[in-house]
Amino acid sequence: MGAFGYVAPGSLDEALTVLSEHASLGKRAQVLAGGTDLLVQMRGLDREPRTIVDIKKLAETNRVDIGAQEVFIGAAVPSAVLNENQALVDLYPGLLEAADLIGSTQIQGRATLGGNLCNASPAGDSIPAMIAAGAVCVIAGSGGTRELPVEDFVTGVGTNALGADEFLVGLKLPAPGPGTADAYLRFIPRTEMDIAVAGCGVSVTLDGSGKCTAARVGIGAVAPRALLVPAAAEALIGSTLDDAALQAAGEACSAAASPITDKRGTDVYRRKVVGVLCRRAAAIARDRARQA
Ligand SMILES: Cc1cc2nc3c(=O)[nH]c(=O)nc-3n(C[C@H](O)[C@H](O)[C@H](O)COP(=O)(O)OP(=O)(O)OC[C@H]3O[C@@H](n4cnc5c(N)ncnc54)[C@H](O)[C@@H]3O)c2cc1C
Repeated sequence: MGAFGYVAPGSLDEALTVLSEHASLGKRAQVLAGGTDLLVQMRGLDREPRTIVDIKKLAETNRVDIGAQEVFIGAAVPSAVLNENQALVDLYPGLLEAADLIGSTQIQGRATLGGNLCNASPAGDSIPAMIAAGAVCVIAGSGGTRELPVEDFVTGVGTNALGADEFLVGLKLPAPGPGTADAYLRFIPRTEMDIAVAGCGVSVTLDGSGKCTAARVGIGAVAPRALLVPAAAEALIGSTLDDAALQAAGEACSAAASPITDKRGTDVYRRKVVGVLCRRAAAIARDRARQA
């Protein structure tokens, strides 16, 4: 392995200066959050010398703010910390169950939602759940701050929308209104510590009569990137989330999928499984929304 540099900026401006100086000199810099993907990659396929920019010392990336309208989760907050925040678990049980599926207790002590997203694996567990919850990326760069919905952030397998002088500061989520709840389910061949064969996040809003007035459905591990499935949401909206509506939403997810075949499952199998997961996750979200 060649020589690596390491910097741990103490401010957002300092971090941006390091990134933009490297970008303008054509030198490579890479952001480090928890390192649970990055260190594995450094030891394996990607040994190219570069400067590692640790964002764990920044105030902005360590913030968790729960407001009446909006919630902010900093990009350096490990999922173990999120999962111990009962207010967050109450607001987004689906997103937090996705965070709680990532690796082991040890991995969760380091792993962040931001790292899961920026790593841009098709099977990243939190990504469909963030899509369902309506999460928006807050991105800082030398030109200022911009926002991008999570469903538009990942551009392909292992690639994302960040420029070389940009990094993810955190995620903004709309605070769920009354009658709103989410759920996330994945299927893996083992009981834990495996990569999803398929995953599905669903968020629904019910009115006082139990009719679904809003929904978002995200699917993962069944396409080069996690997808928002508007057709699945349309199948749910206007219904009471009865079996027929759940079935139609599941079919929409299967139709939206374009999976690969590998040792974990064939494309046909994955397409079927994602439909089943959508039905089940939507039923869980519905039951939670009735109590919300
Ligand atoms: C044993 C093991 C089990 C795992 N199990 C799962 C699992 O079940 N499900 C799952 O989805 N994943 C799993 N993972 C993968 C990994 O733990 C997650 O993807 C994790 O969320 C990554 O977060 P991190 O903070 O460690 O990211 P890092 O490793 O720090 O970063 C990952 C990538 O994102 C970039 N990056 C990170 N943060 C930012 C930022 N703020 N701005 C710009 N770029 C950034 C880095 O440069 C790097 O390219 C597992 C990993 C291991 C080692």
